Amino acid sequence: MRFDVLTLFPEIFAGYLGQGLLKRAIERQLIDVYVHDIREWSTDARHKKVDDRPFGGGPGMVLMAEPVVASVEAARAQQADPGHLVMLTPQGRRFDQRVVEELAANERILLLCGRYEGFDERVRLILRPDEISIGDFVLNGGEVAAMAVIDAVIRLVPQVLGDEQSSGDDSFSGPRRWLEFAQYTRPREYRGLEVPPILLSGDHGAIARWREQDALRRTNLRRPDLIDGRQAETEGGERQETERDSQ
Ligand code: SAM
Repeated sequence: MRFDVLTLFPEIFAGYLGQGLLKRAIERQLIDVYVHDIREWSTDARHKKVDDRPFGGGPGMVLMAEPVVASVEAARAQQADPGHLVMLTPQGRRFDQRVVEELAANERILLLCGRYEGFDERVRLILRPDEISIGDFVLNGGEVAAMAVIDAVIRLVPQVLGDEQSSGDDSFSGPRRWLEFAQYTRPREYRGLEVPPILLSGDHGAIARWREQDALRRTNLRRPDLIDGRQAETEGGERQETERDSQ
């Protein structure tokens, strides 16, 4: 799978690409990530300017359509497959595990990162991207959002995770999309808190049943909306109290 990131700050990605699962996936040639500097398509050869003041006035700067559209078209032309173009924007559809699964079906994804006040509207009108928001808040730029998309999508690329099973139990995954059950590792006892004995029993059937019940209990408490569309508890404090009481 190939990702092309289009950004004004390509250097942000070096550390991220050089770590952990993503680094290994790149080394194993399961994933390719190409980072393109939008400034290279600036029509202003001297200052590499790619932004300008908004028509109609107001604060901040707007990314000009010309260099942005040219950079996307040039990146697309590098391969026969033009890829699936994603624009990172707080005004897009909300990113969740279903969108991750949808995106993972593509062989190539281009991720267009904005800055400042965002893009000239004509970028959207000309390129018709899949507009994606990683949540109802405003970031300074699309780079962190692009990393979130890459990070989530590569987990679904075959062989990227060591154990093919290991994304199936994840929160929001599998047929039910519940939260994952509680996980424990050594030591068996820590500060008076013991690992549930069933997990030490070696009885795989009983362990599977315990995990299923725990996943349901946690989902009910924390995200009942995942079960039946009910509103999730908004008061984190209240939720934690309820959960502690039930243990
Ligand atoms: N003025 C824009 C608005 O209110 O819709 C916000 C621009 S934001 C400061 C700059 C860039 O950060 C955006 O163009 C986008 O690429 C990125 N960005 C900000 N919040 C985001 C979010 N929630 N999801 C995805 N990208 C986001």
